[in-house]
Amino acid sequence: MSLNRSNFFLILFFYLSLFSNLSLSDNQFLIGNHLNILEEIRKASYSIKGEKPTRINYSKLAESHRSYSDIITDGSDEIFIQARTAFQVVYSSSEIMIDSGMDEAIHNYFGFGRIEPYWQSKNNEIQKALKQASLIVITHEHADHIAGVLNSNIANHISNKTILTQAQAKTLISNPQMPEIKLDPEDLDKYLLVDYDKLMPLAPGIVLIKSPGHTDGHQMIYVSLESEKEYLFIGDIAWSIENIKQLKLRPEKTRQRINEDPKSLMNQMVWIKDLMDEQNIIIIPSHDNKLIEEYAMKGIIYEGLKIN
Ligand SMILES: [Zn+2]
Repeated sequence: MSLNRSNFFLILFFYLSLFSNLSLSDNQFLIGNHLNILEEIRKASYSIKGEKPTRINYSKLAESHRSYSDIITDGSDEIFIQARTAFQVVYSSSEIMIDSGMDEAIHNYFGFGRIEPYWQSKNNEIQKALKQASLIVITHEHADHIAGVLNSNIANHISNKTILTQAQAKTLISNPQMPEIKLDPEDLDKYLLVDYDKLMPLAPGIVLIKSPGHTDGHQMIYVSLESEKEYLFIGDIAWSIENIKQLKLRPEKTRQRINEDPKSLMNQMVWIKDLMDEQNIIIIPSHDNKLIEEYAMKGIIYEGLKIN
């Protein structure tokens, strides 16, 4: 499979013609509707014909060191290593990137005055992978996920294959997390701007799932491999898998700092837990270092990006 800009629009056309009648309820993550959503997602993942992806790679470019008390309600003082990551979905002859890394200046902003680990070589690897990717999709419009595109010195080569949702674009234009990632409305047409209701097939085996709550433009990304293994990239709905296992949100002070919608997040977390416990779907939060290393050790995902 190879995806380029015109194929992408062809895919969008198929999507619009096949799924325009898709009728998930407004509260799609509510209990009672869990299996319906999953069925719609699985159906959507087959709607774009072609070979499915074969594996998932990741790169960790930085770490932030927090305590569980910053991550989860009633969390302990134990250190939580927050990995900063980008993922690569690998097809036989192309790749799609999920998130884009960030430059060191942006990383330092997240240190709140402390210097924390940052690996320039890993961010360089991510930049190369972005350059060769067919498509780039962003879980949400925070700098640690999107600055690798917006602030890149090859932005002109990669923006036209970067998918931005209307909600993401709106935040980046009118209320960006920091001035460094502010988007000029005149630059919008440099991106692949999409809008969808509940979910949108992106490529064979890949479906975007709208999930506002952490940010307005947050989305989950479902990936089904050739091997039938199913993955759900949950972005920053939860920073740790413990949030999902214990169904506990971030602490209130963290939630307020981010300005999150706790009700939507909890509905999403209950759904995610159900998929994890009952459907054996592999849940990938962007930042859970311990879990990501565990997955890598078990061969569920692979460290290091494929660079041609
Ligand atoms: Zn993040």
